[in-house]
Amino acid sequence: MTNEPAVSVPVDLGERSYAIDIGSCLLANISDAIGSISPGCRVVVITDTNVNAAHGDNLRSYLTEGGISYAFIEIEAGEKSKSWPVLQTVVDGILGHKLERSDLVLAFGGGVVGDLAGFAASICRRGMRFIQIPTSLLAQVDSSVGGKTGINSDHGKNLVGAFHQPERVIIDLDVLKTLSPREFRAGYAEVVKYGLISYPDFFQWLENNHQDVFAQGLGLVNAIAQSCKAKAEIVAADELEMGKRALLNLGHTFGHALEGYTGYDGSRLVHGEGVAIGMMLAHRFSNRMNLCSVDDVSRVEHHLHAVGLPTNIQQIPGDMPSVDTLMNFIAQDKKVKRGALTFILTKGIGKSYIADDVPPSEVSSFLTDQLNS
Ligand code: NAD
Repeated sequence: MTNEPAVSVPVDLGERSYAIDIGSCLLANISDAIGSISPGCRVVVITDTNVNAAHGDNLRSYLTEGGISYAFIEIEAGEKSKSWPVLQTVVDGILGHKLERSDLVLAFGGGVVGDLAGFAASICRRGMRFIQIPTSLLAQVDSSVGGKTGINSDHGKNLVGAFHQPERVIIDLDVLKTLSPREFRAGYAEVVKYGLISYPDFFQWLENNHQDVFAQGLGLVNAIAQSCKAKAEIVAADELEMGKRALLNLGHTFGHALEGYTGYDGSRLVHGEGVAIGMMLAHRFSNRMNLCSVDDVSRVEHHLHAVGLPTNIQQIPGDMPSVDTLMNFIAQDKKVKRGALTFILTKGIGKSYIADDVPPSEVSSFLTDQLNS
């Protein structure tokens, strides 16, 4: 059985270019994709406990049918797996299965698996090729595209990593059927992000069509394709984040600080929820700095509410953070240059920009107000 992708989005990076294939039943074609990249190669599949339980048998049968020799390495689901010990397990597993440089690593899971497996591929044998098969909405619209890979450190999120582009991104829409509603919503936050960065028409489209996206109708294909096109365009313009790519961090400096203070405890806050609250804080802070209107802030808040995403720090269960705790995480974030903070701020819907001169005192007093509101 072969199934053509409904949409194929090119990521134009010269000799590192690749395609993002989006459609139904694409897992069934996996052996063809592997064969076209490295004929006769062996593969190691990195996956997590949840994805393996839901879709591992399917993938195993497609690989077997295609005559591909494979091994699986399973990690615990959750952000805490983006760690040194789990990285070591994955690297030892890849080397233990005696994969050579012509063989392939398959990242089969959400953003955690993609970031971890991609980083492992980048350092094994000084760089192995890998395919992203993202299974969460967040990974399909964001983390699987663009080549950022890595793990977290005790000092903060994603502080250890490498740029390492995949050979292909294969987005099979059918796998989303087993994703929990909470994780689907969290991924949707990154979809909204593209509209808010620089695609105002897309934000308006989401305001009008979010129900179809959540019902996984045709709107979902469009939302994923538009998100991938937006990300591909930004990455092609600035692969190594020397400039414009930083726009993709809208909401992330606040969001990463919130994830840090919860200790990456997914029962309290998952990444996309942190991004949703972070985008809201970025808009409120921009309004406070007289950059965008209160109507813009309300529009974003209304849409995030409409889909059930959190918009306030107080919605995170458990103890509230102190301002000092959040400021410490913000200072460790990689978007800090010479003491001034770099934030993605906005002049309105779809008018985000990089502000690299934000005084820490302004942020601290803003967060004090947010925590006391
Ligand atoms: P995740 O990988 O933890 O997946 C979320 C949960 O959904 C997990 O429990 C996972 O097991 C489960 N899951 C995934 N697919 C499933 C499926 N089809 N059916 C059932 N369960 C499924 O988290 P995520 O939200 O996918 O990704 C978040 C991570 O991505 C963070 O670590 C973040 O830093 C990273 N990220 C990276 C980039 C990048 O450019 N590299 C961009 C954005 C986010």
